[in-house]
Amino acid sequence: MSAVVSLNAGSSSIKFAVFTLDRDHVPTLSGGGKIERIGMAPILTIRSVDGTVIEQKTWKDGQALTHAELLSWLFDWARIHLDGREIAAIGHRVVHGGPDFAVPRLVDEALLGKLESFNALAPLHQPHNLAAISAIAKLAPGLPQVACFDTAFHHDRPRIATRFAIPRALHDQGIRRYGFHGLSYEYISKRLAELDPGLAAGRVIVAHLGNGASLCAMASGRSVDTTMGFTALDGLVMGTRCGAIDPGVVLHLQTQVGMTAHQVESLLYKQSGLLGVSELSSDMRALSASDRPEAQEAIELFCWRAAREMGALAATLGGVDGVVFTAGIGENHADVRARICRRLEWLGARLCETANARGEPVISLPDSKIKLWVIPTDEERMIALHTASLLQDGAR
Ligand code: AMP
Repeated sequence: MSAVVSLNAGSSSIKFAVFTLDRDHVPTLSGGGKIERIGMAPILTIRSVDGTVIEQKTWKDGQALTHAELLSWLFDWARIHLDGREIAAIGHRVVHGGPDFAVPRLVDEALLGKLESFNALAPLHQPHNLAAISAIAKLAPGLPQVACFDTAFHHDRPRIATRFAIPRALHDQGIRRYGFHGLSYEYISKRLAELDPGLAAGRVIVAHLGNGASLCAMASGRSVDTTMGFTALDGLVMGTRCGAIDPGVVLHLQTQVGMTAHQVESLLYKQSGLLGVSELSSDMRALSASDRPEAQEAIELFCWRAAREMGALAATLGGVDGVVFTAGIGENHADVRARICRRLEWLGARLCETANARGEPVISLPDSKIKLWVIPTDEERMIALHTASLLQDGAR
């Protein structure tokens, strides 16, 4: 039996999940983990499939350790602990597929070069995603690597949904609305088709509400619109990101307040959102546990903006048959779901408070015009499915 590894390499963390493949290349999760605090004192945790910690390691003097060195350590660990199963391929989350890529691709030199040209479109993520690919190419030359793009699921949206109202030449240079969280949305689309095929064939808004948050309007399981745009900064209120903001604010901060572009970037990506409004935390659980008015206002703004954007997507779809909540907040935070659903009553949504509080999969009342679902997302599995499928195509 062989295995594939799903990898999500960020600026200070690497998350990974190992899936074994059966004869038909169907992936089954066998464990996973993460390395955090890279560049400071890295901490590695590996868990088995039932959540038991099977390896924990810290590098106290780890400032100098690069992503490549930590990946090398991980490879050595995997060789010993994978019980003779061979890693057949690595699947990577790559945040940006630019205007070109609508499906995952096997990586080669030419593709890597093309993807590097998108670094400027996602400077906080793309270089780290690609550095992991290059590091593995050196560690294990010849090992197939697959790039799975967060933008791909949105690639075939109607053209109108990809445009900003700026001069055409800029659109043609790539300044357009791409959309992100595509692997999560693709997984939910697939899962909803299994759980509720009638609804999946209709008009559905999926709410990916985590530290990063966005909405996707789907018609017959395909993305037709989404709240994130050129970058993952647009749209909803997030943990530390501001979401949609009048671009005049950015100009004001630079021309009147005297902030540098770098300071504005840090403000909008790292100091805004729930953290900025609450002045307490970016974590929804911490805000819920606080009775400070600023924390409560941050939660209210998060829910108000989510419901407001759902109204906009309802207009795009020409009505809504269902809403699916997913990711850390969407899957776990009953009060946030309830606040958003109450704001959708004008569309005919009727929440079953009991089912919602219990965390059941369907949280709408039988007479609700909009079916309300909670479905856990699984981006790692989506990456593994794509990787296994490309391996199988290669074997044919
Ligand atoms: P994610 O980025 O998908 O991991 O989601 C992180 C967010 O989900 C944070 O704001 C957490 O506070 C929130 N979250 C995670 N687990 C829970 C939980 N059990 N109850 C409420 N919120 C949660």
